[in-house]
Amino acid sequence: MSFDTLGLSAELLRAVREQGYTQPTPIQTKAIPTILSGGDVMAAAQTGTGKTAGFTLPLLQRLSTQTSRRSAEQSSVQTGNQAGGQADRQTGGHSSAQTSGQSARQPNGRASASGRRPIRALVLTPTRELAAQVQESIQTYGQYLPLRSAVIFGGVKINPQIDQLRRGVDILVATPGRLLDHAGQGTVDLSQVETLILDEADRMLDMGFINDIKKVLALLPPNHARQNLLFSATFSDDIKRLAERLLNNPELIEA
Ligand code: AMP
Repeated sequence: MSFDTLGLSAELLRAVREQGYTQPTPIQTKAIPTILSGGDVMAAAQTGTGKTAGFTLPLLQRLSTQTSRRSAEQSSVQTGNQAGGQADRQTGGHSSAQTSGQSARQPNGRASASGRRPIRALVLTPTRELAAQVQESIQTYGQYLPLRSAVIFGGVKINPQIDQLRRGVDILVATPGRLLDHAGQGTVDLSQVETLILDEADRMLDMGFINDIKKVLALLPPNHARQNLLFSATFSDDIKRLAERLLNNPELIEA
């Protein structure tokens, strides 16, 4: 199996090659095509299996080649194509009907209702170390794509994070507590999120984040209007309950 057959763009394949990866790991082989197709995923994956690239690579590809839901809706209104916008929403916003070659080359410059570039993907992690690691992977794999990411976690000053959010990011990696601090202050807008990723979900529950996660979910568009990816090393009853709440017909992936 080679990375070339997974459907990834030249920019991502270049970044992967430069990391020295010769072939995808089992979780990457299974997760990348499913995530690219827009489906929800429930993945059993330990650290060290290559799970971060398994969700980061297809996430970057989708964000760089798809028009954001908001601009798709705006363009469907502008062209009077209401039916197209409806269909896109009904399929969870994953339809590529609104995607054009031009939008693939110009994924930036979108504005949210507040005039800012909207956050289109949210990655929640249990710890600041993991958050920083995930964002580093996003930067490494996305280095040839014009997407912006930021990481926010507690224990450090909030103002530099606010400045970063103000400048606009496509992908936000966050720990739940600090994310809710920002939400409470009105410095983060999650209303345009199209993809939600819970990384190491079992650790998040073990650390008592379930109520924070529920509060974050309430700030997002409804779950059928997003792509939802849940990664966890173990599948306790609590994780299964969370998955039921979060995922729509998920593909189960084990590596
Ligand atoms: P993770 O499980 O995401 O924490 O990744 C574990 C390590 O595997 C990281 O240091 C990655 O850089 C590395 N890695 C990810 N994918 C591959 C691959 N396809 N081939 C070799 N190493 C990889």
